[in-house]
Amino acid sequence: MSRPHNAFDKIVSLCKRRGFIFQSSEIYGGVGSTWDYGPLGVELKNNVIRAWWQAVVYDRDDMEGLDSAILMNRLVWKYSGHERTFVDPLVDCRNCKKRFRADHLSTKIEMTPSLYGSENMAHLDSVEPGEGGKAAPKRCPECGGELTEPRMFNGMFITYVGPVQDESGLAYLRPETAQGIFVNFLNVLRSSRRKLPFGVAQVGKAFRNEITPGNFTFRTREFEQMEIEYFCKPPKYLQPGEKDDIQLLEEWIAERYNWYIKLGISPQRLRKRPQAPDELAHYSKATTDIEYLFPGSLGWAEIEGVAHRQDYDLTAHSKDVPQEDLERLKLEKNVHSTEKLEYFDESYIDPETGQRGAKYIPYVIEPSAGATRATLAFLCEAYDEEQLSQPDEATLKPLKDAIEAALKNLAKRIDEESRKPRPEGPSAEQLKALESALKDGLTKLPQGLLEIDGACSLPGADRLDLIKKVKAIVGKLCDEHTRVVLRLHPALAPIKVAVLPLKKNEPAIVEKARSIKQTLKARMRAVYDDTAGIGKLYRRQDEIGTPFCVTVDFQTLQDDTVTLRHRDTMKQERVKVQELAGVIERKMADW
Ligand code: ATP
Repeated sequence: MSRPHNAFDKIVSLCKRRGFIFQSSEIYGGVGSTWDYGPLGVELKNNVIRAWWQAVVYDRDDMEGLDSAILMNRLVWKYSGHERTFVDPLVDCRNCKKRFRADHLSTKIEMTPSLYGSENMAHLDSVEPGEGGKAAPKRCPECGGELTEPRMFNGMFITYVGPVQDESGLAYLRPETAQGIFVNFLNVLRSSRRKLPFGVAQVGKAFRNEITPGNFTFRTREFEQMEIEYFCKPPKYLQPGEKDDIQLLEEWIAERYNWYIKLGISPQRLRKRPQAPDELAHYSKATTDIEYLFPGSLGWAEIEGVAHRQDYDLTAHSKDVPQEDLERLKLEKNVHSTEKLEYFDESYIDPETGQRGAKYIPYVIEPSAGATRATLAFLCEAYDEEQLSQPDEATLKPLKDAIEAALKNLAKRIDEESRKPRPEGPSAEQLKALESALKDGLTKLPQGLLEIDGACSLPGADRLDLIKKVKAIVGKLCDEHTRVVLRLHPALAPIKVAVLPLKKNEPAIVEKARSIKQTLKARMRAVYDDTAGIGKLYRRQDEIGTPFCVTVDFQTLQDDTVTLRHRDTMKQERVKVQELAGVIERKMADW
């Protein structure tokens, strides 16, 4: 399945048009990088979360769930290290005024303590460089302008609990869900009577005041995470035959990678990338990112990180930690916690004394995924376009003429450009790319409509009137002869089946279709639609990823069978109404 070069833009536009994702507060001009999930988007995102919960909680025997509060005691963030280390180096371009995270740019520089004292940090005791606090380039990547010195910026949103807005009520919107699991470790352990290894899963909102949000919902300031903290024995306490922390880490990396594949991500677009030692977060012994190849300029980017967090977090939130452990983990002494977050291992036998039982702080493996980011990855993976039919010669004539005219004009422009470039563009490279894409599409006609449509949205194309003309003609042909299809896994598809009457002015057909929908909806998300002709109705369902359409026609009234249409192949089969729900469920289960 190949992707059009402008797939990302098309997905963004589809999301808005069909009600997946809207800009938040749009009628007031929006608000920096926050998004609302519309009727189909909320179904898709909920399905992603449901599939995750199913896989990591219900399908395993060693997991519990949790839903901790977003607002937590500020001390959680003091001892977790976030107040000191959840900081990013920020640089501004003096020329174009754009703002960047210095660690997302290339040239390395040394950070000095003076960089950590900006006004954003006024409420913090002391600040250390974040994981990436060591990189900063000299020049703006956009315009080449001079960059300011890096300033440290804490990514946690501040709010106040209670009526007085001062330090005493200061709280943060959580920047990750993980800490809610750590501070509940003893509660879950005692109430569930679990033995190591076991894990806790949590889904919820997280907030980060990102310096450079963007790429649609990829990096936002409010997002949803799906996190697991998997508690296991440190090597010293392992009994013969038990898996060690590294084996468990590897198993989680494989399990999480396979989850995406099972739900339809192609292995060519998914990879495991172990982080280099200088990338690792301060708490991590090893981390592997699971990266997805997003369309467009985003490219390979993290959708989940699986980290070995050692005993860092549970130790950080514990009282009475021996000095040597504080030094080993570079932690400050916790003088506020009322508990030591340790585990009593009754199965442990001391190899020297033969004594049974030991108390210790477990290690943690953390598979941490973004629900909103994964939703975007699934949308990108599912997006596809195909030409279903071919226009006849007479219909193609105006398109061919328009392309010929545009090509002549392009050849002239390329020639002019090579002699005297126009500063306002399009550049000679852009014109050549356009020329080559149009020629390519032209040779493929009467197929090739999508290639020509794609060519018309290459950079610079919107500046050329003759290309605009081609775009208008090919656009109409695409409406008629192509389809957009979201090849979502049925477990993720917002709607599983659409029931469509072949004729909406035949009361018997309409009544039958409505009654079939009523029966199906008890078992799966089903909709009824009669607002267009059958061809258009199929396209609408293809575009939102509905795996099955059921068509009720005259034959249905005679033999109680319907047409079951498959989204991906468009093949149709006759199925007895009585067996319909079971047939669809089986097909979804065997997908
Ligand atoms: P990045 O390097 O992309 O900022 P990160 O390494 O800081 O991500 P983690 O702290 O490991 O991310 O968070 C775990 C997961 O949460 C990420 O893999 C991602 O899926 C999701 N996530 C993190 N930040 C954001 C964000 N600003 N918007 C959407 N999802 C996010």
